[in-house]
Amino acid sequence: MSKTVTIHAPGTVANLVCGFDVLGLALHQPYDIMSIKLKDEPTVTIINKDEFNLPTDPEKNVAGVVLLSMMEKLNNETGFELTIEKHIKPGSGIGSSAASAAGAAVAANELLDKQFSKEELVQFAMNGEKLASGVKHADNIAPCIYGGVTLIRSIHPLDIVQVPAPELYVTVVHPQIEVRTSDARQILKKQILLKDAIKQWGNVAGLVAGFIKSDYDLIGRSLEDVIIEPVRSILIPGFDEVKSKSKAAGALGGGISGSGPSIFMLSKDEASAKAVEIVMQEIYNKIGIDYNTYVTKINGEGVRVVDSK
Ligand code: ADP
Repeated sequence: MSKTVTIHAPGTVANLVCGFDVLGLALHQPYDIMSIKLKDEPTVTIINKDEFNLPTDPEKNVAGVVLLSMMEKLNNETGFELTIEKHIKPGSGIGSSAASAAGAAVAANELLDKQFSKEELVQFAMNGEKLASGVKHADNIAPCIYGGVTLIRSIHPLDIVQVPAPELYVTVVHPQIEVRTSDARQILKKQILLKDAIKQWGNVAGLVAGFIKSDYDLIGRSLEDVIIEPVRSILIPGFDEVKSKSKAAGALGGGISGSGPSIFMLSKDEASAKAVEIVMQEIYNKIGIDYNTYVTKINGEGVRVVDSK
């Protein structure tokens, strides 16, 4: 009987406010569950075990695109059957497509006796992100595969830096409106002012230094985005209120998760993270938009193989 590998692929927060396209972190909650087995014929079969109605055509599902790119590398000698049980809502901004792409790559690699490196898995998985958003980017993929906080210093050539970080709680609210990554990219300005760039790279450097030094105040001060947030936050009802009231409730800071509509806040302790959750719930109850919230921590492991038999 052929082997089946089951993995958990976690949600991720990309950008981390000031680090558009270059920073990301992995969460413990929510996560997708995926099982994969080899097929005799060189094709990809996708079975969806959830209510999201994502495409089963492998060319149209990010996980399928990733597996097809791995098959090509293996001279199309083998195929895969993949079952996806998705819990991270597509278009949420917490790395739904990246979880499928990274999860498929890690799971397939486990079947293939780990012949590919993590860096190669990121390369395969980025093909999925290209399908979802039109651009190859790794700020969800890298933390999903490596775990923790990651810096994608460069895509060409790929240069991923794992950034050590202190214990941090993450509160996420997902207002149930859809913001497509491709749309959220289109509205961005193509040029920025030098004075804004200086502020932004000061914050990126400050945030990375804050993580490495476990300097919570520096982390909080650096969670500022003068380039992307002023444009994108307009797409998210309640954004400004969530941000200001979350900070008043004890959060270090936060902002748009990926391209939104989810908003995340970092906190030093669980009590603050839970107080932030209440603030978020009160705001979306008042506005009248359905939402999900998560109080979770940074996931240092990334995609996890939970069964292999
Ligand atoms: P997120 O930031 O939550 O990943 P994206 O907008 O980047 O959201 O990706 C969601 C888009 O990708 C949707 O249009 C969805 O239909 C498409 N998609 C294709 N396959 C998948 C998959 N396996 N998982 C999630 N989204 C997928």
